[in-house]
Amino acid sequence: MRFTIIFQIVSFIFVFNTQAQTSRVIIDGRDEKPLIATFTEHSIVYGSMRDVANALDLGLYFAAETGKIELKTAQFRLKATGDNPFVVVNDIVTGAESVYQLPVNVISAGNDLFVPLNDFARFLDIVLPTDVSFETAGRELVVGEFRPAHHIDITGMEVEERKNGYLIRLKSNRSIKDFSGFYREDGWFYLTIVGARVDMNAFKNFAPKTPVRRVVPEQTPTAFQLSIQLNREVHSTDIFRDPKGDDIIIALHRRVDPTELAQNHRRAATEEALARERDRWKLDVIVIDPGHGGKDPGTIGVRGTREKDVALVISKKLGELIERNMPNTRVVYTRETDEFVELDRRGQIANEAGGKLFISIHANSMPRKPAPQRGFEIYLLRPGRTEEAIRIAERENSVIRFEEDYEERYAHLTDENFILVTMAHSAYIRYSEQFADILQNKMRQNTRVNNRGIRQAGFYVLVGASMPSVLFEVGYLSNPDEERFLASSQGQQQIAEAMFKAVERFSREYETMFETASGF
Ligand SMILES: [Zn+2]
Repeated sequence: MRFTIIFQIVSFIFVFNTQAQTSRVIIDGRDEKPLIATFTEHSIVYGSMRDVANALDLGLYFAAETGKIELKTAQFRLKATGDNPFVVVNDIVTGAESVYQLPVNVISAGNDLFVPLNDFARFLDIVLPTDVSFETAGRELVVGEFRPAHHIDITGMEVEERKNGYLIRLKSNRSIKDFSGFYREDGWFYLTIVGARVDMNAFKNFAPKTPVRRVVPEQTPTAFQLSIQLNREVHSTDIFRDPKGDDIIIALHRRVDPTELAQNHRRAATEEALARERDRWKLDVIVIDPGHGGKDPGTIGVRGTREKDVALVISKKLGELIERNMPNTRVVYTRETDEFVELDRRGQIANEAGGKLFISIHANSMPRKPAPQRGFEIYLLRPGRTEEAIRIAERENSVIRFEEDYEERYAHLTDENFILVTMAHSAYIRYSEQFADILQNKMRQNTRVNNRGIRQAGFYVLVGASMPSVLFEVGYLSNPDEERFLASSQGQQQIAEAMFKAVERFSREYETMFETASGF
């Protein structure tokens, strides 16, 4: 306590003795402002805070009870206290407080404080919008030109959307080299611009704009710090100076959400697949294959009725019924006239047309005629299991003898290979069976033709068609009574109508099967 008192007395005496000393204030090279009262002690020049405030047009507040002087700028408060080496700089905009230690104590002198000007100039340099330094040799406080517009280095920030993300543009008045930033996983980007002065209002008033949710600006005496909260779509960031100017740019790369991407992909693929499936499951093309033709008459009835003629007439009546009653279904014939068409060509025609159902129409016969057997048979493509099936298959298949090079063309249809070929058809067999069932019922309900059932045999003609397919033997031309019926327009119409009802029913069931199976 005693030491302090002594020191104060000495100080007063000293100040008193040296108050004639002054320092000039040089602003922007011109010696215009009032002088600053100073004194020198141990080569340190002390200056009056009141004179400094007056010379630089700073606000001043003196707290008599604490002996504290506060200098004010628009943004900062600079506080010094007598007998104390600490200077406190407050940023009133951000609330940031920085405490600096001077190499010597501030000296009280009545309602004024004397500060070491060389060191104090550093704080003035921070709080003033211009360069400030103290030239000890000439005892001059040198102040740069006051250029308030240029004091603000960063005037604001803009968010621009780009194809792959966003740009945050910090609008800058000068080329700033010392800046850095990093992005944290919690969604915050932390930016530091060293030595920058910022228009804090621009940041305080920043309205959230995607992807920026919030900004927290902080102006410290030595740097501007900006915390930017980003939404979750931002994946990574870059920071750089705009090559075309002084702006500082933070590039925000959008997060490509792999699950969203995959979902979109899946959705598109699913819709595409469904559309394809739905198309596949529309019974929009029906291929009618009238057996035999041209030089191949097929079997010939007791009264000379030719199988190829019966098959063609029933085929055309069926086709007309479909075309008239099922406008969305196209009918394709493997032949429309009395012409010869190879068995394998018939399958090709069906496939090329995108057929969804292949109906091969034939008439049956016993090797010896007349014969009592009568009735229709529906054949699915499978290796024949019964002798009768084999017999009929052999007979129907024997037409290949009418074809040129038939041995070569059907060489692959050895017994063993035929099993493999029919296995390839197993994808359709369920629907082939279903159509066979329906056709059987419709024939029973609508005609007086005997039902001889659904059978399996290895018909070459069915091999080539990649779709549900049946071979329909409408009846026996070797039975005179049935031959008469099959040769009659009324009989042919009856059978065609029964077949049409089967097609119509199958079409409905087929499309419903898909709707049910797919859940759509
Ligand atoms: Zn036939």
